[in-house]
Amino acid sequence: MTKLLYLKDSYIKEFEAKVVKITENKVVLDKTAFYPGGGGLPYDTGTLIHGSKEYRVVKVCKEDNNVVHFLENEPDFCEGDLVKGILDWDRRYMIMRMHTAAHILAAVMYKEYNALISGGAIGVEESRLDFTVEKFSRLLAEEVVLKANEIAKKGIEVKIYFLPREQALQIPGIVKLLSRMPPQVKELRIVEIPDIDIQADGGPHVANTSEIGEIVLLKYESKGRLRKRIYYTVKK
Ligand SMILES: [Zn+2]
Repeated sequence: MTKLLYLKDSYIKEFEAKVVKITENKVVLDKTAFYPGGGGLPYDTGTLIHGSKEYRVVKVCKEDNNVVHFLENEPDFCEGDLVKGILDWDRRYMIMRMHTAAHILAAVMYKEYNALISGGAIGVEESRLDFTVEKFSRLLAEEVVLKANEIAKKGIEVKIYFLPREQALQIPGIVKLLSRMPPQVKELRIVEIPDIDIQADGGPHVANTSEIGEIVLLKYESKGRLRKRIYYTVKK
């Protein structure tokens, strides 16, 4: 089982880990800071270093309880060796800013329109979110983004902590997201933007909402009666 370093600290850019398993170009480590994707977020890319050799990590995914790093080339190192992992930090940091922005946008949509997220994809260049709302428009989308920016600018500290499942279930508003959680999970990772949003969530976030910069609405589309889509990006 790979220890997931990013769960406790989204800012780990480099780490040392032991190679547990190699299958052709696929490498499992005892711990990793690479996010394997999921929850609407893309996987991280980066590099594994062993001695003087560098290997590009082109894809990362979760298989059972392990994180598998797909290297561009088959490695020369062996199981039991120590390697250094380095994330493509500019890319990852952009994803973190986009992700925390998504939580704020979702919170505003929930508060103002009682809308839930029905889909979405966080990206590096642009992100999209689908909301279950009937009456909506480009103008209202602009208002939502404006409100989200007012919140982001407040510089709210994003809190990440772990709670026993039963205790987490007591938090109002968190239940709707629990349906996604595998039932065997005893402890849930909680991401809280105090007074704005609280969710059980497994992805990397910025530590303070001011790091998001400005949320910019790129496009608004109606994809159906109860499916309204916004595209956005963030800029400093
Ligand atoms: Zn999230």
